[in-house]
Amino acid sequence: MFMTKKHDFKTLAVHAGQKPDKLHGALATPLYQTSTFVFDNVQQGANRFAGEETGYIYTRLGNPTQAVLEEKMAALEGGEAALAFGSGMAAVSAVLMYFLKSGDHVVHSDAIYGCTHSFLHEIICDYNVSATSVDTSDVQKVKDAIKPNTKVIYLETPANPTMKLCDIEAITKIAKEAGIVVIVDNTFMSPYLQSPLELGADVVLHSATKYIGGHGDVVAGLLVGSKEIMDGIRMTTLKDIGGIIAPFDAWLLIRGLKTLAVRMDRTCENAQKVAEFLEQHPAVEKVHYPGLPSFPQHELAKKQMKGFSGLISFELKGGYDAGVKLMNSVKLCQLAVSLGDVDTLIQHPASMTHSVVPEEERLEAKITPGLVRLSVGIEDVQDIIEDLEQGIS
Ligand SMILES: *Cc1c(COP(=O)(O)O)cnc(C)c1O
Repeated sequence: MFMTKKHDFKTLAVHAGQKPDKLHGALATPLYQTSTFVFDNVQQGANRFAGEETGYIYTRLGNPTQAVLEEKMAALEGGEAALAFGSGMAAVSAVLMYFLKSGDHVVHSDAIYGCTHSFLHEIICDYNVSATSVDTSDVQKVKDAIKPNTKVIYLETPANPTMKLCDIEAITKIAKEAGIVVIVDNTFMSPYLQSPLELGADVVLHSATKYIGGHGDVVAGLLVGSKEIMDGIRMTTLKDIGGIIAPFDAWLLIRGLKTLAVRMDRTCENAQKVAEFLEQHPAVEKVHYPGLPSFPQHELAKKQMKGFSGLISFELKGGYDAGVKLMNSVKLCQLAVSLGDVDTLIQHPASMTHSVVPEEERLEAKITPGLVRLSVGIEDVQDIIEDLEQGIS
């Protein structure tokens, strides 16, 4: 391949994993929209099944478009290998079922993605796996939660929707001493802004539905880690549970990744300005954004993250009613869950994503009635601010 020296992220995002198409010289990665692959003869088929010859067999076991995405993603996260899935949750369940066996225990961040929480507390618990929810922003609390049968520490940083951070490097140090695997959900940061593997984590997870796809048109998931772990998952919980990515979705993600660095630069720049605007607004009680000097973990953010990404949450003084009013008044910001799109998305956790959570638990997780979550897009920042201004006032 032409890429001989270690290139910068921006170059890798465009080129890594892509080889010129030998058949016709196509620049873009061909979309191998096929379920199966034809063998030349019985011997070739037998050799491929026996693993004695490289080559494809059946798309659930591997597909050339998916392979390009995986190679590109491994390069961007600085891992040896990657795996693509049909959703972020397919990646979450495959990696957790790979590491956790009957009798094992997992420690996880208290504010994790809702479906990850229900996977741990409503599904895998039936297979004799126990889970402890911990405020992972406090390293001592993580240490205290570790038991002799703890096999996995599962982190999400920043956490949704309060942006609370945890110190990946400090936690992985403790985990290594105890022989525990650390998995980090890096969805909010994208590989451009935070590198958990460099900080000692074993596996990085993404809902590729968010920043990696970036355009709100695909649901997918990714894992990155050592070749040994990725091969292990590929041959077990990916192959046999079967949450594979569709070739077209892999193709969309390859395209999304090419512009990731450019989109994230604009996203960070816009979000910083929007957070500063909100912080000085008289109707706003509090703004949670790691890029603000007022953010309690701003120093950790600067140490661990290369940028502060596009997620902001803020509390309106007017509480629940003010939140609902803002949702109904915005014109440019789109009223939708999800995040990481080029479009600015806005949602109100108390009436939407977290409405099923009892109010007491919501308040404990700092999800106040007037809390609004914003995923800042790449539009003109003045247009975003004007839309929020007219909605808040
Ligand atoms: C969206 C999301 C997931 C789940 O991913 P899907 O692609 O929706 O299955 C997991 N973790 C985080 C942090 C997310 O935002």
